[in-house]
Amino acid sequence: MPPAPPATCRLCSAPLSALQRLTGDVCLAPRCRLAAARERTRARRDADLAERRAGAARLWQDDGLQRAPVVWIERHATRLVPLPAAVRRAQAAHLARLAAQLSAAPAADGSDPADPGHPGDPLPPDDTPLAPALCTFCGGRCCRYGAGTHGFVTTELLRRWLERHPQAMPADAAAAYRQALPRQHVEASCPYHGRHGCTLPQAMRSDICNRYACDALRTLQDHPEHATVVAAMDRAEALGPVARLRRDGPRVLPHAGRRRPRAG
Ligand code: SF4
Ligand code: SF4
Ligand SMILES: [Zn+2]
Repeated sequence: MPPAPPATCRLCSAPLSALQRLTGDVCLAPRCRLAAARERTRARRDADLAERRAGAARLWQDDGLQRAPVVWIERHATRLVPLPAAVRRAQAAHLARLAAQLSAAPAADGSDPADPGHPGDPLPPDDTPLAPALCTFCGGRCCRYGAGTHGFVTTELLRRWLERHPQAMPADAAAAYRQALPRQHVEASCPYHGRHGCTLPQAMRSDICNRYACDALRTLQDHPEHATVVAAMDRAEALGPVARLRRDGPRVLPHAGRRRPRAG
């Protein structure tokens, strides 16, 4: 005997009318309908992911791909455009202001810029073997925060640069940051977000740039033992590109419809 239709909404427990019982198990309240629609979209996304993993596992003869843990990252646009002149000018003006502040008050915080006693805490050891593959595949979504913050470049960063270049002047530090600006950057992202990632060497980046980890990266940091991980992009709960992450980099999974190798 088929199970009796539910008498109440499975999400909010409100009683269902006879018609609602026949058509589903969720009431007509907008909140419940929205939640049910999200569940369906997410189930479709997960089914798409399972299909894509299975296809790639067959194509690449990589059974481990099916068992690899999944991390989700948010899809974002990574269109390269010439660095807008206005952005370049604004960054140059920002750097000039910082240099002027340093020249006017080199020890405003009570420290001496020539004293290398405040180089910032050392970075934690990089024991996350898949981190470069993840961030390469992602394309630097977190660097969008650098757009409104001049790439997080502060007087403190210029001060650190001067500590490494004891013969130089604040204007030289500003010039070094100016010269690091790329010709092309990711549209609407940080001025230093270039074709191959950040154009600043690690020592010139802010602590926040060097230490930030999104949820996906934190998952990898918590599990350095994973040799293979699947990274999936989603936007509005729909499946975007998916990649297998290994120490040697990301490899994008083909779409299910493209899984057969071309003849010849
Ligand atoms: S930390 Fe996260 S958001 Fe930033 S580049 Fe890496 S994967 Fe992308
Ligand atoms: S890591 Fe580089 S590109 Fe990203 S926000 Fe920092 S300075 Fe900008
Ligand atoms: Zn309900």
